Amino acid sequence: MTAETAAATPEAFAFQAETSKLLDLMIHSLYREKEIFLRELISNASDACDKLRYAALTKPELLADDPDLKVMIELNQGKRTLVVTDNGIGMNRAELIENLGTIARSGTEAFVKSLAEGKAGDVSLIGQFGVGFYSVFMVADKVEVITRKAGESESWRWESAGRGKFTIVPEPEAKRGASIVLHLRKDADEFLAAERIRHIVRTYSDHIALPIKLLGESRSTETLNSASALWTRPKAEITEEKAREFYHHVAHMPGDPWLTIHLRAEGRMEYAALLFVPDRRPFDLFEPDRRSRAKLYVKRVFITDDCEGLLPRYLRFVRGVVDTSDLPLNISRETLQHNPLLAKIKTGLVKRVLGDLEKKATEAAPDYLAFWKNFGAVVKEGLYEDQENRAGLIKLARFQSLNGGAEDWLSLDDYVARLQEGQDAIYYITGDSAEALRKSPQVEGFRARGVDVLLMTDAVDHFWLPSIGEHGGKQFRSVAQGSADLDAIKVKESDAKPEPAGAEGELDKLIALIKLSLGNAVKDVRRSARLTDSAVCLVADSGDLDMHLERLLRTHQREVATQKRILELNPRHRLIRALGTLVSKAGASDTLEDAAHLLLDQARIVEGEPPSDPAAFSRRLSAVLSRAFEAQPG
Ligand code: ADP
Repeated sequence: MTAETAAATPEAFAFQAETSKLLDLMIHSLYREKEIFLRELISNASDACDKLRYAALTKPELLADDPDLKVMIELNQGKRTLVVTDNGIGMNRAELIENLGTIARSGTEAFVKSLAEGKAGDVSLIGQFGVGFYSVFMVADKVEVITRKAGESESWRWESAGRGKFTIVPEPEAKRGASIVLHLRKDADEFLAAERIRHIVRTYSDHIALPIKLLGESRSTETLNSASALWTRPKAEITEEKAREFYHHVAHMPGDPWLTIHLRAEGRMEYAALLFVPDRRPFDLFEPDRRSRAKLYVKRVFITDDCEGLLPRYLRFVRGVVDTSDLPLNISRETLQHNPLLAKIKTGLVKRVLGDLEKKATEAAPDYLAFWKNFGAVVKEGLYEDQENRAGLIKLARFQSLNGGAEDWLSLDDYVARLQEGQDAIYYITGDSAEALRKSPQVEGFRARGVDVLLMTDAVDHFWLPSIGEHGGKQFRSVAQGSADLDAIKVKESDAKPEPAGAEGELDKLIALIKLSLGNAVKDVRRSARLTDSAVCLVADSGDLDMHLERLLRTHQREVATQKRILELNPRHRLIRALGTLVSKAGASDTLEDAAHLLLDQARIVEGEPPSDPAAFSRRLSAVLSRAFEAQPG
């Protein structure tokens, strides 16, 4: 096939199903923030120039014939087109198909769904999901991308009306980089006006470190932005507004930064950083790769945004830019992770971020809680991953507790300062929600003694607690594990319920018979020191897998051998006392057999587990209730 015939027959491709859905929404929904398409195109152009600058570090010839990187916006009222052109890295044919036909990033599905549900404001989040390009279909009914990849001779024209398919055809001769041609819809006239474009660029893209130029009808060009790398500017020049706009660009996040950190290290190490803590959780916070997305620049050249050496994973919510003149420009991305200079920068950054967080925690406690609720679960990963900063991280941690309400959060120091007389451990319980944990039977005895219990609701708690072991000389101890050893702590007068006199022998007999009935279903049956109101509860033997962790592992489809638990009986409970009397009079019986299994199932249900044999459970419950009702006359 010759170039001419190929040009005459464009090759057609279908968009991936997910992309089609997104495009349909772009075309048919009426979003208020249509102008964000320009922010997305400029952001892509700026990324493309960053990529070229990086590639040219090892292959300077890529830049040679056209070294001044820039973005050009061209308006043509007659043709009703808006064209955004960059002289960056460009795309070859395979990249066009890959980048502008499919959606690679996970999380997009959720985004498309939220758009489909009519949450119109969400459209400005589009960049976060790696699909910003498609926002052009909010304003254009046809889009062309004319591009040539740096270092390659072939150029291409991608074209689509956004309805199901796109075509690709060789383009006779395009310049290096990419031109995005938007044929504007009838309802998008506003984007043909230079004044409107000027305003949008200044609002969203002023900080872009390349010149953004506007070529108007009169063919005169003007530069629209200040094109300065904001992070290298003196502090006084980084206004709140500029910082916010830059944050939207680097973080792809809406809203305001919760914390802005501007740092300039001089002397032995030279680097500047402009970092942000978002005011909400980024959608990929709990992706398995736990990647930090802060961007590394060397002498204002973008190097990478995928660098573990810059910030630790437990600070992966921090967004922004770090720029240093100490690293060589031709450093390879692969060796960065082990670079000793970068390690020093990392140490400095972590110290500063943790220091600023601690300041917020002490000086603006309510505001700090908003941060902790968003990112506490991530920061706690540092407790076992970063021994060096453990002491600093512990100070940042906040917990809900049994004695406090939903909005009362304690530090570990607060907890230790409020120990009850005779209390020598930091008690905690793990589970899915603080609300559910407050109702757990395992905490009853603690509540009765005024002993506070920390309510741990993050999966990560199962990992840092055993790795730290203690705080302020007090061991961490789970109230749902091992024996409760509460005897040294007095019960509050009002809650004291004496154990019935003479019941000890009955209870021993009851325990022995229940053990016999339950056989292998439990590890042990014993009297409880931790129950005051409930009849029974389950606890894990010390050294066994925590019950909540076992459930978590199961929900993540991990193979976990079922652990046998200990069933504890409350000697003061009416039901247990009645059963004690029953066995002392009649010994083993069908009623006792049923009761033993029902008690175990009851304890399982309170733990959030189903009865081990639902059919047997319902049969037994009916049998026991029938006997009870039959014994009642009338
Ligand atoms: P994102 O930029 O977040 O990855 P987009 O949907 O905006 O998502 O763009 C998809 C991909 O298309 C980009 O990652 C990039 O590889 C490619 N791309 C978009 N615009 C350009 C451009 N002007 N030059 C080169 N590549 C581009």
